[in-house]
Amino acid sequence: MSDGVSRDKNHQYDETPSNTPEGTLYVVATPIGNLDDVSDRMRHTLGRVNRIAAEDTRRTKQLLSHIGVDTPCFSFHDHNERQKLDWIVQMLKSGESLALVSDAGTPLISDPGYSLVRALRQQSLKVVSVPGPCALVAALSIAGLPSDRFVFEGFLPNKSSARLSYLQKMAHETSTTIFYESSHRIRACIEDMSTIFDSDRQIVIARELTKTFETVLQGNAESLLETLRNDPNQSKGEFVVLVGGEKPQLDELSPDVTQLAKTLSEHLPKKLAAKITSETFTVKKKPIYEFLLEQ
Ligand code: SAM
Repeated sequence: MSDGVSRDKNHQYDETPSNTPEGTLYVVATPIGNLDDVSDRMRHTLGRVNRIAAEDTRRTKQLLSHIGVDTPCFSFHDHNERQKLDWIVQMLKSGESLALVSDAGTPLISDPGYSLVRALRQQSLKVVSVPGPCALVAALSIAGLPSDRFVFEGFLPNKSSARLSYLQKMAHETSTTIFYESSHRIRACIEDMSTIFDSDRQIVIARELTKTFETVLQGNAESLLETLRNDPNQSKGEFVVLVGGEKPQLDELSPDVTQLAKTLSEHLPKKLAAKITSETFTVKKKPIYEFLLEQ
């Protein structure tokens, strides 16, 4: 093959945009920092489609000029996704093929495109993936946390109160949980994690993946918070935060423990009641506090 597309002999791709009456939407992943992560198939697809739907056309044009492609782009983002749906469907039905790209990484992963792909699937129009970089997968692959099962939560809420209650709901998640985070909130996010998660909960912060200042920090929330406080550079850039799953609780709270906690909480704040009970019975404070919250 001379067109740069590698083909498995058992799987015949046909990437020619005009070979069927209806066009195809190619969902194309782009680099998350390092432009050397551009694949031949990505370059080839972006060069052959009729148009590219781009989250930010200026950013995509920079990438296109880097790879020597001049396919026309139009803007397609969270605020115009629904308006442009019918127009895109018409283009595909008239035989044009399109690529969907976001600013970085895999479209639809905390990025626009879901409504479009769903609509095309409902109308049995062809959607093909051109896979590549994705920050959550890159982070999980190097974090050293269990990767057999994981939960991706995207961005946490902006406000601390909402973030705390969100984290509280997932305090007992046993799979590795993955979040995206920005430089504005990374410290506040880890601070809230230190309130919710026990000190034996492993956390990994993967920063600036594939870029010059790629850094991976690991520890519990308190130790990571200290690192962020001591080194302001560690709060710069883009982040994936991974939280190891809670270890199964082998020791259920005994009736003696719950009884004391309940009695104390009738006279004291729940936090203090949990602390005294945990010290009295030498058991973990968090499950007692949660038990009292549930009461
Ligand atoms: N669709 C993208 C993907 O496939 O990863 C994610 C888009 S989301 C709007 C952007 C967020 O992804 C950033 O705020 C950051 O949390 C994460 N991210 C993107 N690039 C990253 C990188 N190079 N290193 C660490 N995190 C990154």
